[in-house]
Amino acid sequence: MNVYFDNAATTPLDPEVLDAMLPFLQNHFGNPSSIHGHGRQVRAAIENARKTIAHLINAAPAEIVFTSCGTEADNYAAFGSVSTLGLTHGITSALEHHAVLHTMQALEKQGMQLSYLRHDAQGRLDLAHLEELLATHPRTFVSLMHANNEIGNLNDIAAIGDICAQHNAVFHTDTVQTMGHYKHDVQQLKANFLVGSAHKFHGPKGVGFLYRRSGQTVNALIHGGSQERNQRAGTENVYGIVGLAKALEIAYRDMAAHQQHIQGLKDRFMAKLRAEIDGVEFNGTSAESDQSLYTVLSVSLPPSDLNEMLLFNLDINHISCSGGSACTSGANAGSHVLNALGCDPNRGTIRFSMSKYNTAEEVDYAVTQLAKMYRKEPLKV
Ligand code: PLP
Repeated sequence: MNVYFDNAATTPLDPEVLDAMLPFLQNHFGNPSSIHGHGRQVRAAIENARKTIAHLINAAPAEIVFTSCGTEADNYAAFGSVSTLGLTHGITSALEHHAVLHTMQALEKQGMQLSYLRHDAQGRLDLAHLEELLATHPRTFVSLMHANNEIGNLNDIAAIGDICAQHNAVFHTDTVQTMGHYKHDVQQLKANFLVGSAHKFHGPKGVGFLYRRSGQTVNALIHGGSQERNQRAGTENVYGIVGLAKALEIAYRDMAAHQQHIQGLKDRFMAKLRAEIDGVEFNGTSAESDQSLYTVLSVSLPPSDLNEMLLFNLDINHISCSGGSACTSGANAGSHVLNALGCDPNRGTIRFSMSKYNTAEEVDYAVTQLAKMYRKEPLKV
C-alpha cells in the first residue's frame, strides 16, 4: 500500500480541476491585459473565477485579490495594513505558521511593537488577554489563524473578530488550512482579511487569494503593472486562477460529505492508535472535535529510541506524513509550535493529515505499521 497522509502540506489535484485548467494551458494563451479577443477571452475567465470565489465566501468580487500563494496573501495583508494605516502595534501568537510569524517579526524589526497572545498547554488562545492588549492599544493589526497547520487547533475567529471590531483593530486571519474545508461567510465574520491557497484544497500550487474587506485600502506589496486593479502587479497565473476557483467550487459543493468522511477517518485513527500503542497522546485539542480541524491529527508517541527514525520508518513502508518534534538541543530547533506548547522533547510527533481521497484501509495500514514498530522492542519510558 502507498499512502499519502500529508494533505496539510499539499493535496493532490482533483481531475475535475485539471479539466477546467487544461484549455488555459492548451488553447487560451492570451495575456489578460491585452485588449484584443485573445486577451479578452482570458480576462473573462479571471473575472468569472473572481466572481465564483466571492460568491462562495459571500464577498464582492472586488474584494478578492489573486496572489501567488497563501504566504504572499499573508504578507500583503500585514505589510499593506501596517504601512497604509500607520499601525504601530501588532498582535499574533507563537503558534502561527511562519508565513505570519516571520512576517510579523519582520514588521517588528521595522519598528512595529509586537505582542504575543497567551495560550494554554493545548494551544487554546487566551481571549481575555486579547481584550487586555487591545484595551491599551486600540489601533492594532491582529493576525490569528483559523486552524493550526501542525496540531489542528481551531481558533474561535468569530469571537476574535468581535473583540477586534469593538477595539477598532484590523483583523487578519490566516485561513489557509480551513478555506475549502469550512464555509466562510465574510458578512458574518468580522475579519478584514482572509486567505486562501489552492493547493490545500485539491487545486494547483502557486496560486492563492486575499479577501480584503471593501474600504480596507492597503498598499500593494508587488509593484509594476496595473493588474488586479493596481493591487498586485504581474501577469496573472490564468490557469492557476481558473483551477483555484474550480477547486473551491468543488470543495463547497461536496463539503458536508467530505467533512463527515474525513472526521470518520480521524476518529478511527485515534481509536485504533489508543488501542494499539500504550501511552499514545494527541497534541493540541485533537481529541475535541469541535475545537479541532478534522483534516489534521497530531500524534504524540511515548519516549522511545524509535522516535528519531519514525518518519523514515513510515516512509520505507510507503506512508508519507510529516514529523515535528519539540526542541531537544540547540542543533535541533524542532517545531516552534510544539516548543511553544512546552511538549516533552523525548516524545515523538507525527502529523497525519487527511483528504477526501483517503480510506479506512489506509488508516488501518498506518496504525498497523506504527504499532509494529513500537512492538519491536520494549518502550523505554
Ligand atoms: N498558512 C498556513 C496555516 C499554512 O499551513 C500554509 C502552508 O502550509 C501557509 C500559510 C502558506 O501557504 P502557501 O504554501 O500557499 O504559501
